[in-house]
Amino acid sequence: MKILVLNCGSSSVKYQLLDMVTERVMAKGLVERVGSKDASFRHEKGNQKLQFNMDVPDHKVAIAKLLELLTDPQWGVLKSVKEIDGVGHRVVHGGEKFACSVKLSPDVRKTLEECCKYAPLHNPANLLGIQAIDELLPEVTQVGVFDTAFHQTMPRKAYLYAIPYKFYEENGIRRYGFHGTSHRYVSQRVAELMGRDIKTLKIVTCHLGNGASIAAVSGGKSIDTSMGFTPLEGLVMGTRSGDLDPAILVALGSEYGYSFSDIDNLLNKKSGLLGLSGLSNDMRDIEAGMENGHEGATRAFEVFTYRIIKYIGSYAAAMNGIDAIVFTGGIGENSAKVREWVLKGLTYLGLELDEALNRSPEKEKLITKPGSKVQAWVVPTNEELVIARDTLALINEK
Ligand code: ADP
Repeated sequence: MKILVLNCGSSSVKYQLLDMVTERVMAKGLVERVGSKDASFRHEKGNQKLQFNMDVPDHKVAIAKLLELLTDPQWGVLKSVKEIDGVGHRVVHGGEKFACSVKLSPDVRKTLEECCKYAPLHNPANLLGIQAIDELLPEVTQVGVFDTAFHQTMPRKAYLYAIPYKFYEENGIRRYGFHGTSHRYVSQRVAELMGRDIKTLKIVTCHLGNGASIAAVSGGKSIDTSMGFTPLEGLVMGTRSGDLDPAILVALGSEYGYSFSDIDNLLNKKSGLLGLSGLSNDMRDIEAGMENGHEGATRAFEVFTYRIIKYIGSYAAAMNGIDAIVFTGGIGENSAKVREWVLKGLTYLGLELDEALNRSPEKEKLITKPGSKVQAWVVPTNEELVIARDTLALINEK
């Protein structure tokens, strides 16, 4: 069984082909600047890497080219595209309709179109990817795996905003949460690593990448998460502000003449680590800046880690305790310094960091001492594997 996983963004297509007997990645790649005459293509087969630029007017051309590469005598891993048993799509927004992955039937697609209003940049791109596969591989089963699905178990008290209720009823304005596939994977994986039934565990999962979110997972279910109606809420991110007083938006508009699109751009593209530091949105630059005494980098790092500490504290309260904290995403997996700063703020929970383990080179590891009341782990996320597994499970269901 071979599953193709597609992650179509507004101007990019990420892909992985997985052999589901071994769960091994056979080939993968990334197309960037879709919509341009000079789009970049990166394709990997084992250790061999191919890079070139080409005219990619739309998602369908990108997907046609990647299918061609997958069957190329030199760069491919398949004799024919007929060997692809299913295509799993990462879909950003499933609204309230999807609490798990589903086959992309005509009804499901209609609902996805309705969800475009919630994710105007992402869902239309996901739909273009789905339509491209319809045309290029008409026989294949397609499955949607939603970023929002895992958080559909959040109780009403966690997902409602305290604005007039009609905005929820009539406009769907509520907290949805994102990164659900990653929070689901790392919470299940840490339960396995701990040798415990996830139903008995209270876990806080910290997905810290360019986008960052944190979730409270009690008994295997997400009961709260930091991203909300959009991925802008919550933690400090690379270029996103995360939480802020909504009256600031009003002030920006009424006092300083910012338009809605200026505000959107400011809070999504110019804030976060970049805005606070005036240096970079990249945590590696922030850490290097701190070492060199860069004041902006230091304040960005402080605000970034302090907000994580506050969220973990609030989720300890929400779950009435924590058994384990998991770090994942580019920063969570790689920055020992971020983990150290965060965990040193949690000694009141009885958490004892093992600094040597925290700095050790292993990728998947426990980083607290044996007697620690709360365990902390690093678990590399693998959203593509979850998408491929869900796709396979739904194909086998028929
Ligand atoms: P995305 O949300 O775009 O998928 P990633 O999960 O790839 O992002 O995370 C990107 C972030 O991870 C960047 O801020 C980058 O600096 C950070 N990162 C990657 N490697 C390291 C490292 N060794 N130390 C600190 N931060 C790192």
